[in-house]
Amino acid sequence: MSTRLIDPFGRNVEYIRLSVTDRCDLRCFYCLPGDYRDFHEPEEWLTFDEIVRVIRAYASLGIKRVRVTGGEPLVRKNLPALVTQLSGIPGVEDLSLSTNAVGLSRQAVALKSAGIRRINVSLDSLRADRFRKITRGNLDKVISGLMTAKQAGFYPVKINMVIMKDINDDEIEDMIEFCIEHDFTLRLIETMPMGDPGRSAISYYLSLQDVKQRLAKRYELIPGVMPGGGPARYVQIAGTRLRIGFITPISQHFCETCNRIRLAVDGTLYLCLGQEHKFEFRPLLRAGISDSELTEAARAAIDLKPERHEFVEKPQQLVRFMASTGG
Ligand code: SAM
Repeated sequence: MSTRLIDPFGRNVEYIRLSVTDRCDLRCFYCLPGDYRDFHEPEEWLTFDEIVRVIRAYASLGIKRVRVTGGEPLVRKNLPALVTQLSGIPGVEDLSLSTNAVGLSRQAVALKSAGIRRINVSLDSLRADRFRKITRGNLDKVISGLMTAKQAGFYPVKINMVIMKDINDDEIEDMIEFCIEHDFTLRLIETMPMGDPGRSAISYYLSLQDVKQRLAKRYELIPGVMPGGGPARYVQIAGTRLRIGFITPISQHFCETCNRIRLAVDGTLYLCLGQEHKFEFRPLLRAGISDSELTEAARAAIDLKPERHEFVEKPQQLVRFMASTGG
């Protein structure tokens, strides 16, 4: 069997984002509705064993990179135990985590020993009052989680900052200084119209092409550094180690190089962040599917991957929001 997973558009799919919960201990206004209660029930969650079976199937087919995400992955109980299982799967070369860092000061060391190598932390503001307005959370906890992660030896630590006009676009330079000071990598992200919260935030949309031009007036930006396996296009600030990635799903989509799929906590595989194309693994797993049948189903699911998202053409079409997809 081939160890490359090629989709109908010739793209080599080698990266899976694994959502271990759709719940979150923050409520970023552009992501999760404040009064949202319609989370999956525990019996709908894939168990650790079920998750490991699906990831093992994909690893045998050529998936090399696994990112644990959510919702907020650290709210899933015993996460380090799952990470230990995932890190033992043959073929998984890169195991990483996306987190809001609220619970990271307690879990960073355990996650590192379990096998997480790299982490991305969402951080939209360094101002406590503004951070609370955006997320309803406590900035101190996040900063202390970040510092624990740094001390635990995670490298690189990447900060993900969603840029919103008149909300936090005046803070990019402060975030740059913060990242230079701590040797973090910075990634700036455009808002996407995912679900009602995402669509309402589109009024704060700011093209990162404009942001880049603004930064170029103040800093010398060296383009083309750090190719990476993801959608970010990186520049480096001359005279520093800081790399800034621009993730531009709206102003310059990167679907032609999309190498990823997403497994949601209920066992739904989403083939595209911005489309409804999906495949349900849970019914198969619970009906006693064999490992070889599971591997064949996992391969067949890749044929459903659409060519591209349509965030710009059809912003109204996606009811699913980011936390339920495995953002
Ligand atoms: N809780 C984890 C975290 O904070 O990284 C993982 C899941 S979170 C949904 C993943 C990322 O999606 C975060 O960086 C968040 O800011 C981003 N996000 C959520 N909704 C978004 C939207 N509508 N547009 C752009 N980014 C969004």
